[in-house]
Amino acid sequence: MANKHDIIIVGGGIMSASLAYHLLKDGFTGDIAIFEKDPQYEFSSTPRSEGGIRQTFSTEINIRMSQYSFHMYKKFEEEMAIDGEQALIDFKQHGYLYLLNDKTLPTYKEIMNIQRKLGVNAILMPPEEIKDYIPELNVADLAGAVFDPDAGNIDPYSVLQAYVRKAKRLGAKYIYEEVDCLLSEGDQITGIQLKSGEKHDAPIVVNACGAWSGELSQTIGIEIPVRPLRRQVFCIDLAKRFIKELPFTFDPTGIHFRSEGSKVIVGWGNDVPFGYDFHWERSYFEEEIWPLLAERSANFEQLKLERGWAGLYDYNYIDQNGIISGHPKMRGYYIATGFSGHGFQQAPAVGKGLSELIRLGKFETIDMSALSIERFEKNELVLEMAVF
Ligand SMILES: Cc1cc2nc3c(=O)[nH]c(=O)nc-3n(C[C@H](O)[C@H](O)[C@H](O)COP(=O)(O)OP(=O)(O)OC[C@H]3O[C@@H](n4cnc5c(N)ncnc54)[C@H](O)[C@@H]3O)c2cc1C
Repeated sequence: MANKHDIIIVGGGIMSASLAYHLLKDGFTGDIAIFEKDPQYEFSSTPRSEGGIRQTFSTEINIRMSQYSFHMYKKFEEEMAIDGEQALIDFKQHGYLYLLNDKTLPTYKEIMNIQRKLGVNAILMPPEEIKDYIPELNVADLAGAVFDPDAGNIDPYSVLQAYVRKAKRLGAKYIYEEVDCLLSEGDQITGIQLKSGEKHDAPIVVNACGAWSGELSQTIGIEIPVRPLRRQVFCIDLAKRFIKELPFTFDPTGIHFRSEGSKVIVGWGNDVPFGYDFHWERSYFEEEIWPLLAERSANFEQLKLERGWAGLYDYNYIDQNGIISGHPKMRGYYIATGFSGHGFQQAPAVGKGLSELIRLGKFETIDMSALSIERFEKNELVLEMAVF
């Protein structure tokens, strides 16, 4: 029966592919159909992500999920190999450096205590050590820094493609069509309807639509606090390059920058209305970001803005953390969304956890129940201090 499935996943990004991979790897033998409206992933958040991965969070759940994902990404190239061909993902482990002033240092020291207890390998640096590490930085206003040496960035498009290839090899079916709405009868999810009008049935439907997930959920009257939020990224070339490679560096202004080959990638999230907006603004870089960069280092004074791009956060506007959950009022309806700026790095853990929840009815590897959708109604929010 072509239109009957055991599990339907709506959205074919990294959350979906990681989930399909884990379900099939961990023994699920049913039929999994994944619906993706954008076959080239042109507007999907995953390939537009910066691919940063770190363990330096402040909440136990985010730290544990990031640790799981970090170990997974370390062995990813081999684990995702197909017919002996490795899945290359270009993991650059150049660290995360958080530059801190008098106001932010005490908070980070507090966070480090939590991190240390959970085995995160972060180091506190006084200003003179920052200067030894990156001599071109102006540290006059800084009280110190935290350095996470295990962190870095990975090519998100390669990770997505590797997961998709592997999930397909294990038996997941990809259907490149747009889902118009979810279908339900009473309190049971029953399937989806495509824009073409065609229906597909399944007793389990997973909403993994990222920035589009809130809108899809409204088609069965269920509100998810997730909206599309535009984030811009810029690629610059400097007249005077830094001597050493820049780690993923977070400035107290909120700007972050890192080396990418001979170029520098810069990002900063300004206040913009929610919406499906993909344009990037040269003027925003020139007027808002550039002056602040130039204050941090004279090397930023002369530069060429080569290109930029914008992508959407699957922004959880209540507590900015992922929602990994069944739904208490709709049997068979599962959700993996709302990861805001840290979905890429948590995707391996999300796939593993949701696979367990669907197959076994409970989390086994990491207890992710703190991220259930019910936390909003119960007001048990996950208050993460280290999100950007
Ligand atoms: C600029 C930027 C920088 C980021 N940097 C980082 C970072 O450094 N580290 C990090 O961890 N995270 C980062 N993120 C966040 C991360 O990219 C996301 O949290 C993550 O990619 C979400 O994955 P997803 O699979 O849920 O979403 P997506 O990759 O967007 O996948 C969802 C898919 O659903 C499809 N879809 C939507 N509606 C429908 C429908 N009705 N029918 C069929 N298909 C549909 C879409 O086409 C899309 O392909 C960044 C995001 C942005 C935008």
